[in-house]
Amino acid sequence: MRMMLSSRRLLPALALILAVFPWIPGVPAYWVTLANLIGLASLVSIGLVLLTGVGGMTSFGQAAFCGFGAYTTAVLSTHYGVSPWLTLPVCLLVTGVLALPLGLLTVRLSGHFLPLGTIAWGLALYYLFGQLDFLGRYDGISSIPPLSLFGHPFYSDQDIFYVIWAFVLLAAVAAGNLLDSRVGRSIRALRGGRAVAESFGADTARAKLTVFVFAALLAGLSGWLYAHMQRTVNPSPFGLNLGIEYLLMAVVGGAGHVWGAVFGAGLVTLLKDVLQRILPVLFGGSGNYETIVFGALMVLVLQFASQGLWPLITRRLPAPPAKARVGASGAATLPRRQRRPAGEALMAVEAARKAFGGLVAVNDVSFAVRTGEIVGLIGPNGAGKSTTFNLISGATTLTAGAIVHDGIAMGAVQPRAVARMGIARTFQHVKVLGDMTVLENVALGAHLRGSAGVARSILRLDRAEERRLLAEAATQIERVGLGELMHAPASSLALGQLRILEVARALALDPALLLLDEPAAGLRHVEKQALAALLSRLRGDGMSILLVEHDMGFVMSLTDHIVVLDFGTKIAEGAPAEIKAHPAVIEAYLGGAA
Ligand code: ADP
Ligand code: MG
Repeated sequence: MRMMLSSRRLLPALALILAVFPWIPGVPAYWVTLANLIGLASLVSIGLVLLTGVGGMTSFGQAAFCGFGAYTTAVLSTHYGVSPWLTLPVCLLVTGVLALPLGLLTVRLSGHFLPLGTIAWGLALYYLFGQLDFLGRYDGISSIPPLSLFGHPFYSDQDIFYVIWAFVLLAAVAAGNLLDSRVGRSIRALRGGRAVAESFGADTARAKLTVFVFAALLAGLSGWLYAHMQRTVNPSPFGLNLGIEYLLMAVVGGAGHVWGAVFGAGLVTLLKDVLQRILPVLFGGSGNYETIVFGALMVLVLQFASQGLWPLITRRLPAPPAKARVGASGAATLPRRQRRPAGEALMAVEAARKAFGGLVAVNDVSFAVRTGEIVGLIGPNGAGKSTTFNLISGATTLTAGAIVHDGIAMGAVQPRAVARMGIARTFQHVKVLGDMTVLENVALGAHLRGSAGVARSILRLDRAEERRLLAEAATQIERVGLGELMHAPASSLALGQLRILEVARALALDPALLLLDEPAAGLRHVEKQALAALLSRLRGDGMSILLVEHDMGFVMSLTDHIVVLDFGTKIAEGAPAEIKAHPAVIEAYLGGAA
């Protein structure tokens, strides 16, 4: 959220500085040229901040996408005489269409295979540009016409300066809007929160592809501008060297900060200019010595300022004005699921079985959860509680048996489909996005209750829906008693509060069934009491809850019905009083203790 605040405040100031910059007396023309290069690099680097900094996908290949944009307009405007402005949509289309299959291949890769993959296609495309006859091979294409407006051609660096920086500002605003939206939350969940996002119905593979194509389009736009600024293109600026520089800009600027991308582009471009003049004099010859310095710089930044330099600067700025508070009331509310009368069949586990190799973790277990009741699933450590939970939540697939919810067999469904059926979960090992606020974390839970896509988010046409989603999140936060912490970063919460946050996030889905895996683990006694009070309030509101718990005492006072597992097998089932007196249960627990 912080990045959005600073971007909104920076925009007018930056626009003003940019408007007067070329006219300040005594500003050398070369500075304007440098500013243009910074602008072109900023476009690529803004895309990379989303792709790498926010989405966690490292790409060394962005320069190739600049090549798509540059070569498309070069060919169209020289060979076919198409006006440069008309080539822009074609450039974006070509870049997007080519980025799509590359993205589909690339985002599937994980770990270090992903950056290696980008290096591979980055290199391949560079050589391809140099081999194709209709792209002029390594000589490239020259005599590209300049951009023009109202019959006035932009031959000078001063003219195109405004075009470039207008696009940079637009791109920064678009990127900021995208991040500050429903789609943006699933993008920001890509690093470290994929399981959460999927459990609440967000398609994270699609979110990855979205940022990949968004970043590619910004690079393609940069290439288009570059072609009409230089009015000649050849393969050299679209190779791996530049790809590494772009990545350095994004990393230096700051992993998750849109304006950091512009800052990083400025810093690296200016540094390169200085180094290219100094280093050959120091070392003699004409090698690309700056590449060595950049490599060292990248290592240093990653080592000592992994968030980039931008946060080090913004930390010194005065705090942004208090944000308009999102309240639980005021905005129109989202439609709610129709509550069914208590006591009806809701979810049934039917002879569910899960084997891990020879180990049968869940051995033909059957039980049911009815509307408006809390069912406890208990048993000693290793009894198969979490595995059963994972079968219901779609995190693990059944070896045999069935799980039926609302009359529909869930079969081998993914967590996303489980969420769509109205089942929400919390995680035994708390999973929240630490750099998002409590409100944003909970709003992720309401993902399926909105529909705004990328275009609506970028154009800010999602505001009415977004207000409703945030109001819903705020309502759930108030409901669980975390209202005071609504705008705090989730990383500042204690474990007990995080578990409650997870309950609020699950409630934001408006679930018919709430799955809780050991929600009381690690809580202090008072926190356990508060949680128990909350859960019984939820039941009073008509919620059905499946409570997986190790702590028998916690479950006894709260549940309507208890299922006991031991070594994967159901050994008892009944009302709490019956379970307490059940010989097999006493044996399992005392036997375990002894
Ligand atoms: P509980 O939650 O009741 O403590 P679990 O469901 O986590 O128990 O585990 C049940 C059994 O299944 C344990 O013996 C555990 O070691 C085993 N198990 C759980 N998950 C896996 C897995 N992914 N691969 C192999 N064995 C597993
Ligand atoms: Mg467990």
